[in-house]
Amino acid sequence: MSLDVEHTKARLSEIRKQMDLVRSFGISIGPSTPWELITIAVGLVAAVERVQALHTPDEFGMCEGCGDNEHGYAIVPHPCPTIRELETP
Ligand SMILES: [Zn+2]
Repeated sequence: MSLDVEHTKARLSEIRKQMDLVRSFGISIGPSTPWELITIAVGLVAAVERVQALHTPDEFGMCEGCGDNEHGYAIVPHPCPTIRELETP
């Protein structure tokens, strides 16, 4: 399953606002599970973003996060397998 990080963050933010509104009216929608799930999802999105930040292309289009050869040059074309795994459906 692919993860569109920006879309997911925007959607989580929307859901959180709606849930805060519901809570501000004192409406109970059950145990605190939905809030916990949002917190977990936000953490997962942040983890994906940290991985994406490590696997960025250099000026030659190679992945900076996938290791260098003995001369210090990145050798894996970007998008690398890690990025493809995160972003391909
Ligand atoms: Zn990589």
